Amino acid sequence: MNFELLILGSNSAVPYKGRFPSAQALTLRNSSYLIDCGEGTQIRLAEEQVKRNRFKAVFISHLHGDHVFGLPGLLTSFSLAGRKDPLFIFGPQGIREMIETAIRLSGSFLSYPVEFQEIITNKSVKVYESETIKVFAFPLQHRIPTYGYKFVEKEKARHIVPEKLELYNIPFTQIPDLRMGADGISVDGDVIPNREVTRDPHPVRSYAYCSDTIYDESLISHIAGVDLLYHEATFMHDLAEKARDRMHTTSCEAAMIAKKAKVQKLIIGHFSSRYDNLEPLLHEARSVFSNTELAIEGTRFEI
Ligand SMILES: [Zn+2]
Ligand SMILES: [Zn+2]
Repeated sequence: MNFELLILGSNSAVPYKGRFPSAQALTLRNSSYLIDCGEGTQIRLAEEQVKRNRFKAVFISHLHGDHVFGLPGLLTSFSLAGRKDPLFIFGPQGIREMIETAIRLSGSFLSYPVEFQEIITNKSVKVYESETIKVFAFPLQHRIPTYGYKFVEKEKARHIVPEKLELYNIPFTQIPDLRMGADGISVDGDVIPNREVTRDPHPVRSYAYCSDTIYDESLISHIAGVDLLYHEATFMHDLAEKARDRMHTTSCEAAMIAKKAKVQKLIIGHFSSRYDNLEPLLHEARSVFSNTELAIEGTRFEI
């Protein structure tokens, strides 16, 4: 079952040739989730040929323009395409007012219901759950209220071993319960432990998104052990003081978070436009955490 992250944009505040502000599309099975929506996101979605009717929810990290200014345009385009399905939008306090005002003052109309959920929390909380995924929001330290998100695949059903069902004479009607972990009962009434007739499912996969934030070890507990971590790396470490002043992180610090959180893989992004060449940021991060990649527009990461 595919679980894929597509980078639509990964540049920081100021526009830069060929680089777009923050936006990502996360797809699990047939559902997609939009993570941040900087200017130009709908153009990027068209360029990457992402199926727009698959989007179930939008998760906005904070209300700085490079993370949200693409949303009014995207929502009205969904409407022009005749969308009917509801869309959930998560974000900090103010997201509803910001978007509803833009829609209202522009005389626009949405053909589908939008359900806003404004997040206020100082710990990790579950904000969304579907048949296949759970999403948690957790606080980041930035100049305005900002949240990171963790996307965790739901527990999968256990695998049945058909030969064992035959061996122990367990009726096939019990398969749904066995997949959920129940013990089997043979036609003679013997109880057969679940582990005798099933195998463990594939481990659940997870992705965490930490957009704009100062270096903050308190977020490690929220993202510990994820398969894929996106962490902002606006500057290189020689500008650590500037990063602190602007409440951003350096590539070296992003890698330290990845290392301390024992994640499988790190992607760094939210690059300052001062960097024409991003390789030095990558080298710096890899010197601390080797399994690091750049969040380049158009890159797809299988989780
Ligand atoms: Zn930003
Ligand atoms: Zn910001």
